Amino acid sequence: MLRNDQLEQWDRDTFFHPSTHLAQFARGEAPQRVLTGGQGCHIEDRDGNRLLDAFAGLYCVNVGYGRQEIAEAIADQARELAYYHAYVGHGTEASITLAKMILDRAPENMSKVYFGLGGSDANETNVKLVWYYNNVLGRPEKKKIISRWRGYHGSGLVTGSLTGLELFHKKFDLPLAQVIHTDAPYYFRRDDLSQTEAQFVAQCVASLEELIEAEGADTIAAFIGEPVLGTGGIVPPPAGYWEAIQKVLAKHDILLIADEVVTGFGRLGSMFGSDHYGMTPDIITIAKGLTSAYAPLSGSIVSDKVWKVLEQGTDELGPIGHGWTYSAHPVGAAAGVANLKLIDDLNLVQNAGEVGAYLNAAMADALGDHANVGDIRGEGMLCAVEFVKDRDGRAFFDAADKVGPQVAAALLEQGVIGRAMPQGDILGFAPPFCLTRAEADEVVAKTAKAVHSVLG
Ligand code: PMP
Repeated sequence: MLRNDQLEQWDRDTFFHPSTHLAQFARGEAPQRVLTGGQGCHIEDRDGNRLLDAFAGLYCVNVGYGRQEIAEAIADQARELAYYHAYVGHGTEASITLAKMILDRAPENMSKVYFGLGGSDANETNVKLVWYYNNVLGRPEKKKIISRWRGYHGSGLVTGSLTGLELFHKKFDLPLAQVIHTDAPYYFRRDDLSQTEAQFVAQCVASLEELIEAEGADTIAAFIGEPVLGTGGIVPPPAGYWEAIQKVLAKHDILLIADEVVTGFGRLGSMFGSDHYGMTPDIITIAKGLTSAYAPLSGSIVSDKVWKVLEQGTDELGPIGHGWTYSAHPVGAAAGVANLKLIDDLNLVQNAGEVGAYLNAAMADALGDHANVGDIRGEGMLCAVEFVKDRDGRAFFDAADKVGPQVAAALLEQGVIGRAMPQGDILGFAPPFCLTRAEADEVVAKTAKAVHSVLG
């Protein structure tokens, strides 16, 4: 085994880490951590630290670490047939079975699954499918995609544009012109504090209507949204939001893409966020929870309505000109089949709902009265604590004070991983679905201690 100092040096000298302060890291001013193992909700690093991962990696290791059933399925598939492509009608038992299992779990109007590698490429696929769809229908002008500020949809060219976080745009020449943004359904951060939730929803709807009017409905192809805003702050929608938004989209013949990369396969305590909120999307993006991140795999689930038009397009043009070498990779597909079976066998969707509700209630009990806690919110196995300078006037801290990151660091010192969300002082939790009540208690107790140590 390599010496720690050797590995750390190579890491600083050679490894271009994503979402990292490059200069600080290379200079040795930002932390490194080399992970070596994981079991259940815990991971271990080379220094012998054992950490409770209350963010499941990046909300993805939903079944928890160390699942031998999935490891064995991966090994068996790699031994039998590590790879063959899925072009021109090729497949494997694993990829075909997985498509069937996904559709058995998906909302009723869904028809087919296109497989990719990660959430970003799946959303790139979705935008291309929507453009192709409107071209086949003879509507070449209907191409713009509406996303929400604070939405997260990936880091590619079009998906980084869809992502409504400034850091993903600045100096990258994004967003692209075909992408436009509308309001985040973030009631806690509403401009007018006197507004009720219903009034706030009406305002979100009115501003969407205005945007559509200003751009022209005949130029807008689709609206993309996460059922619960994730990386933008873990924000469940206000009551009635999706119902009202869908009415507007239907009126203007705008497709709905539900980005269920975080919410798909159980995180909200329902199989899909679309079921949870009564959404009827035309396309659903899936990734993370599809394999619980045991192998990279994503998918675009397309509805009957979209599929029929895609078929018509290939009758006119020939094979669809869109494919990745690793679409439906057999090893990823085998991981997906084993993962979805495990979720069923262990009743993990139900556990996510029940223990998630317990975690959220316990967090509210422990911190609901703290003078610097403005909001505690969540749904299923998602929870967020938002810090404010002044509760009554809802004044926020300066970003430079780094209150969220400080609390996350104080929590980490006690061996628990939460995530300082990138925009605002928000501490997020998205634990594996196998979290126990005792582990939830530990997360809450240590979070309370961390909050008190930073904010008093
Ligand atoms: N959509 C959502 C809702 C996500 O949370 C993410 C990743 N956090 C993505 C898309 C992009 O997925 P990936 O990082 O696998 O490309």
